[in-house]
Amino acid sequence: MAGLLFGTGGTPHSAKTASTIDGIERSAELGLGCMELEFVQGVKMGEAGARLVGETAARRGIKLTAHAPYFINLNAREPEKIRASQGRILQTARIAAICGAESIVFHTAFYLGDPPEEAYNTAKKHLGEIMDQLKRENNRVWVRPEIMGKVSQFGTPDEVLNLSTELERVAPCVDFTHWHARTGRFNTYQEFTSILLQIKERLGRAALDNMHIHVSGIAYGKKGEIKHLNLNESDFQYIELLKALKDYDVKGVVICESPNLEEDALLLQATYDALLKTD
Ligand SMILES: [Zn+2]
Repeated sequence: MAGLLFGTGGTPHSAKTASTIDGIERSAELGLGCMELEFVQGVKMGEAGARLVGETAARRGIKLTAHAPYFINLNAREPEKIRASQGRILQTARIAAICGAESIVFHTAFYLGDPPEEAYNTAKKHLGEIMDQLKRENNRVWVRPEIMGKVSQFGTPDEVLNLSTELERVAPCVDFTHWHARTGRFNTYQEFTSILLQIKERLGRAALDNMHIHVSGIAYGKKGEIKHLNLNESDFQYIELLKALKDYDVKGVVICESPNLEEDALLLQATYDALLKTD
């Protein structure tokens, strides 16, 4: 089995219906290796549904991950918003675990004008409480703050790696496209490998063996991300990225978030497979 699996963020467009089960079936038919459950508008899947999803994924050999709701801010001013944000991450982790998913991703926070160090400490405290609760529940899902694409959003590689070193069972979701959009740089082989090296130095080789990656095309401006695009409509150098992932023998999942979903997921997978064969 491949060390690096490719799949879509949500059910592929060409699935029979938009349901998660049909998404898993279609992913398997297409020859993809993984799929991200998009709980981005809320965790609406119940426990019985999650069990069925888990059985289907196991039967079809599709590895699952989950994306927590967008409405999360671990640096919110209001205590009730913090509690609601924590609840959404916890609920994602609980349903993901029943589905057999080993990794969940979430958007940590907005700075809201705070100095980044202050936002970091606030987010770390509230994420720590979540991790304590999951430990009490014996939930061993990896909880992954995502590298974010807008300058107003918490989530630089440093911030995400710091959380990962300070909190047990927290690891990065490395959205290479977001970091490119945020900086206007990080779009070459050298720059991609610099991120991989940083991860290896901070978290050890094991982190590169267990990566959760997001990739898509992207439109961006001075404030970073504007919107996701298909790879062939954007300047994102995905072949350079795939070469870097291959050369560092990165393992885990690559979730494609291009608007065309499976088309770009298949493009990434085919390109990666071709690179492996050129060795
Ligand atoms: Zn995301």
